[in-house]
Amino acid sequence: MSCINDSVCKLCRRENMKLFLKGDRCYTDKCAFERRPYPPGQHGQARLKFSEFALQLREKQKTKRYYGLSEKQFQRYFDMADRSKDVTGTGLLKLLETRLDNVVYSLGYANSRREARQLVSHQHILVNGRRVNVASYIVKKGDVIEVDQKSREMNKILSAIQSVARRSVPSWLEADHGSFKGTVKDLPTREEITLPVEENMIVEYYSR
Ligand code: SF4
Repeated sequence: MSCINDSVCKLCRRENMKLFLKGDRCYTDKCAFERRPYPPGQHGQARLKFSEFALQLREKQKTKRYYGLSEKQFQRYFDMADRSKDVTGTGLLKLLETRLDNVVYSLGYANSRREARQLVSHQHILVNGRRVNVASYIVKKGDVIEVDQKSREMNKILSAIQSVARRSVPSWLEADHGSFKGTVKDLPTREEITLPVEENMIVEYYSR
């Protein structure tokens, strides 16, 4: 088990930031990034000079891992953003941020995006009163996200709600934990997306 924990935590160390992939553990002093805030491997603590390409790659990898996506999924979002009216980098982040699994996590009904994805795929989440089991569902302004009535006693949902005080609900969402609901007040602006990423470098990466 420690091997699995370590391999996930290595992603944070590689990206030089906490990606919050392990739920509760990320907020404790057991967090591997807090203990070893440098990249894994024998050259982890060496001062390396990165090429422009390496920097672009890191920004892409960091974003992809933060939202827990595969390369193929991430590329698909990039293509969608490229075809949208938004500036490509901003459009990409907006698409990722409005995925249903990210919204469930952001509202505080799961301790990690991975856990949120499970809740959605196991049919514990409703959108506007209808069951949605597709984690990549893109929410819209006015959507009401709700934990299914029968799932409200689940330990992991209750523990996530208890823990949500450690992170704030984004201002474009409104959570009502008493009724196990949340509302999309508006779509996020770039300023409301807190992931510290230089999205223009992702655009440059895919434009090579
Ligand atoms: Fe591991 Fe810390 Fe990253 Fe969480 S934030 S996945 S505990 S290194």
